[in-house]
Amino acid sequence: MIEARGLTKRYGSKTAVDDLTITVQPGVVTGFLGPNGAGKSTTMRMAIGLDRPTKGTITVNGKAYRDFAAPLCEVGVLLEAKAVHTGRSAYKHLLAVAQTHGIPRRRVDEVLGLVGLTEVAGKRVGGFSLGMGQRLGIASAMLGDPGVLILDEPVNGLDPEGIRWIRTLLQTLAAEGRTIFVSSHLMSEMALTATHLIVVGRGKLIANTTVEDFIRQASGDLVHVRSPEAARLGEVLARDGVTVTSSGLDTLDVNGLTAQQIGEAAFAASVPVFELTPRQVSLEDAFMDITKDAVEYTHGQPPGQRVSAATSTGAHA
Ligand code: ADP
Repeated sequence: MIEARGLTKRYGSKTAVDDLTITVQPGVVTGFLGPNGAGKSTTMRMAIGLDRPTKGTITVNGKAYRDFAAPLCEVGVLLEAKAVHTGRSAYKHLLAVAQTHGIPRRRVDEVLGLVGLTEVAGKRVGGFSLGMGQRLGIASAMLGDPGVLILDEPVNGLDPEGIRWIRTLLQTLAAEGRTIFVSSHLMSEMALTATHLIVVGRGKLIANTTVEDFIRQASGDLVHVRSPEAARLGEVLARDGVTVTSSGLDTLDVNGLTAQQIGEAAFAASVPVFELTPRQVSLEDAFMDITKDAVEYTHGQPPGQRVSAATSTGAHA
């Protein structure tokens, strides 16, 4: 379990993480989502003692990272993908890490197998593709067989096969009861990988919800309707829980009824209907919408135009 309480990090006048209180539970993949610059990496760096909070705390299994006697056996970490330039083989690289942490040699073979690098274990890491490098990074994170994994943007730059592989691996590791905390700036990716979502913007918590609830809330049921008697149809459909907006002379956007319900109501009222189009908001759009006020305006907008992320907390919090 990872717990942040009032976690805050300032760099000079810049607040990278702003009073964040979250709990990341074991047994599920928790996606840590937010636009670039939202404070995800900073939060993760504080979780593993690479940065000190300005205020508040972040603990892993109830302890500060620096208090672990054998941190590799408690928390596996994959920070942002970097090209590894080393003449060492994958095997030697992992063995060196294992030996400095008192991890037995056989574990190196195990993690190589886990990430599917056994066949290239003798090859120079410097010649690895990005995808192979990510696999090696995960092998390294898994060396100590940790109960908690913290991965910063692990799918960045991977091909679809690599993305699918990481997704399946994370879900398997979570099903074993581990805590899996994985960041991304891509909603669609997280929706397929995570069970729980923690969304941040400008360092603040925006949403803390299950993926299922997020999708349900994001999708809604908006139906675009075209009728020569749009105004009358609008009156027919008006009732509690239904929002009808007129988007043109002969068109309506109806929220709160299915296409079938609208079609039946129109038929009962003898209103001709030319078009009934259910519109689903894409997850990426829903994500953009809840984080739009929290995106950093670094390209010339005056600070006065900045909007607080807290305004979009809404029903997702
Ligand atoms: P994310 O991982 O969500 O993209 P980061 O945690 O990397 O976001 O960054 C959050 C904010 O903090 C950004 O505005 C970034 O520029 C700033 N920041 C991160 N690290 C530092 C640092 N070492 N010094 C100054 N500002 C930093």
